[in-house]
Amino acid sequence: MEQNINLNNDISLSEGIHNLNPLYGMSREDLLSNLSSLDIIPNKQIPMRIKQLWNWTYVNGVDDINSMQNISKPIRDKLQDIYTLHRPKIVTEQKSSDGTIKWLIALEDKLGNSSGNEIETVYIPDGKRGTLCLSSQIGCTLNCSFCFTGTQKLVRNLSTFEILSQILIARDRLDDWHKNNLNAQRKITNIVMMGMGEPLYNFEAVKNALLIASDGDGLAISKRRITLSTSGVVPMIERVATEIGVMLAISLHSVSDEVRNKLVPINKKYPIKELLKACKNFPGLKNSSRITFEYVMLKDINDSEYDAKKLVKMLEDIPSKINIIPFNPWPGSEYKCSDSKQIKKFADILNNAGFSSPIRRPRGSDIMAACGQLKSSSERIRSNKIINEF
Ligand code: SAH
Ligand code: SF4
Repeated sequence: MEQNINLNNDISLSEGIHNLNPLYGMSREDLLSNLSSLDIIPNKQIPMRIKQLWNWTYVNGVDDINSMQNISKPIRDKLQDIYTLHRPKIVTEQKSSDGTIKWLIALEDKLGNSSGNEIETVYIPDGKRGTLCLSSQIGCTLNCSFCFTGTQKLVRNLSTFEILSQILIARDRLDDWHKNNLNAQRKITNIVMMGMGEPLYNFEAVKNALLIASDGDGLAISKRRITLSTSGVVPMIERVATEIGVMLAISLHSVSDEVRNKLVPINKKYPIKELLKACKNFPGLKNSSRITFEYVMLKDINDSEYDAKKLVKMLEDIPSKINIIPFNPWPGSEYKCSDSKQIKKFADILNNAGFSSPIRRPRGSDIMAACGQLKSSSERIRSNKIINEF
């Protein structure tokens, strides 16, 4: 049975917190120049203090500067006047019958208004692996015709702090901080930038968040276990390798420009040929470090045997694997998921050609947490109303 917990009153923010700067999300360099200019810690001590601040923040997961015991009370007091470790508010937590958890998180602007700025973050446990799916934007500009997020207009980009806070919130709720779990298997082992938004349209914030997430003194999640998914923002693809160094996933979904123009309209700007060229040239690409191509199965649109054979040809000289994603329906969507027999046929063609091409089980679809089903809840209520009127 799915469970819904309303956490609206669980986390209350004290007055005045919005004038403080979030301590997490700042790079070591920014923290260094910030602390140097503030004159609250002797210059000589700053590097050591930064080490301590990072350790409390990212290893121990404290949410209160006052509990940083190896920092003296007078310095803690001064730090508290400037910085905060507070997390954005969780509005609801939903648990699927398959163990997937979805959090609806309310974001605030500097003045503390949340004004409908909500994002969704999803945790997908799978045996020893636990994947956290992060959002990079509120809404999306790209309007892919099969994606629920694409029906919500872009509200804004998320900041580094807001992207990282999704990991911190998940670790809080799952009790997955290192201090509680010294020898235990970590619950969050993988990160995917596959929630709301196009991460390469918010490159700097995504980059800074992922660099802290993967830093050995930060959240220490290996770059090989972090995947950034893009709909195909060709000019930014190389920078995923050179500046972030995480794994790349491409939302391909079609083998012809004609069909892809409709499914993933950014294709009109960066057609398949250019996209595949950027993939071929992706720095560091090799068999042990392959690109994942995502392919959503839409009945009678992109799921023929001809499509599968063309896909094999298109990807033959790119070290790649192919994730076959059964389409997840949403209220008002114009597509149907391909029949399971057809999905199997499609997968067999790819498998027989030597590709690793798992058929992804939809996860969390009873709570609308599966790929392409995320949307701010206030928006969802609005769109449900529209659907109800018809
Ligand atoms: N904007 C990025 C990342 C977020 S979408 C991108 O498009 O890659 C994450 C994945 O879910 C993408 O591959 C996307 O194409 C896929 N997706 C979107 N809507 C879907 C749906 N209704 N069913 C299945 N997959 C979907
Ligand atoms: Fe945006 Fe990705 Fe959805 Fe396309 S699939 S609308 S790029 S979130």
